[in-house]
Amino acid sequence: MIKVCSKCGKSKPLSEFHRQKASKDGYYSSCKLCRHIYYETHRERILKNCAEWRATNPDKLREIHRRYYKSQRKQILENARRYRQSEKGKATRRAWLARQRKGG
Ligand SMILES: [Zn+2]
Repeated sequence: MIKVCSKCGKSKPLSEFHRQKASKDGYYSSCKLCRHIYYETHRERILKNCAEWRATNPDKLREIHRRYYKSQRKQILENARRYRQSEKGKATRRAWLARQRKGG
């Protein structure tokens, strides 16, 4: 599948576009490179806007997190389970238990 980037006007394979569920074809209209350049150019403003938005919309932010967790619940739990069973996860848990004993 080939898609034309709305920013640079080049035809690129879909793998060169980020996914966006909300859009019609499921991808952003501008390619990864253009989005990257845009982000790099406006990074400070984007980050500032983000921080401001989070500060003024704590309820919406919570709702987004809640929805994300709900939709990804299975995956999140599966990842957590896998992590607990991994060596790194076990080591983390041992360290946590040791801390609990010391503190208690
Ligand atoms: Zn482009």
